[in-house]
This record gives sequence, structure tokens and C-alpha cells, in this order.
Amino acid sequence: MSAADSLLAPIPGAEHQELGGVQLDVVHTGNARVKRSIYPVGFHWARDIKPHVGTEFCVHTHIGFLARGKIHMTFQDGCTRDYVAPQVVVIEAGHDGRVVGDEPAVLIEFDFEGDTAARLGLPERHQH
Ligand SMILES: [Zn+2]
Repeated sequence: MSAADSLLAPIPGAEHQELGGVQLDVVHTGNARVKRSIYPVGFHWARDIKPHVGTEFCVHTHIGFLARGKIHMTFQDGCTRDYVAPQVVVIEAGHDGRVVGDEPAVLIEFDFEGDTAARLGLPERHQH
């Protein structure tokens, strides 16, 4: 990690956490949270996070901006979706995900903790 790389540098005032190799920085802003997640090369939710959270799929809605890297999502019903930076992402609850390629994925998200989908007018789960 280069100190000159502002996309990866420490964020003043953020709460920093690490889970399953993911570096997470969170800033509370009124009712919302702004988050930066850095997913390492080779990251796979089912292997790296699932054992910590105990749900079959990720139950969070992800809304934001993929600033770097590539991610591959698989939904509960088998649908797949690929995102390549720079790209806005809308990922409904009920998915697995992995990092593709040889660089970490950096995702900037906005959420309302457990109320994200409702507050943003999105379905509670992936649907057609
Ligand atoms: Zn589907």
C-alpha cells in the first residue's frame, strides 16, 4: 500500500474494523453511514465472512461506488452480476461475492444500517 494512495489511506475520524480480511472504515453522518471497504485479492464472502456472521448469504444491501477492482456477485437464486470499477453498485440482500483479479476491490457505500433498502426505495431482497 502506498502512502500516496488516498483511496487506501487511513480516514480521519472513521471507526476502523477488520473482518475476514476486509478493512472497513465507517463514518456516521446523521442517520446514515458512509463506509469504505477494502476487499483483499482472493476475497470470497462464503469463505471469509460467512463463518463470522452465520447466515447463508450476505443479508445487507450495498449501495455505492466501486472505486477500484472487480467483483463477482452470486444471488440466492443463482443470478450472477459482475462489477468493474469505476461503477455504481446496487446489490440487493441475499448474495455471495468475491473479488476477481489481482487487485483489492475498494467499495464506497452509503447505508442506513438495517434499514438501507427501505430508506432507499429498493427491494428487501434480490428479485426480478
Ligand atoms: Zn435473480
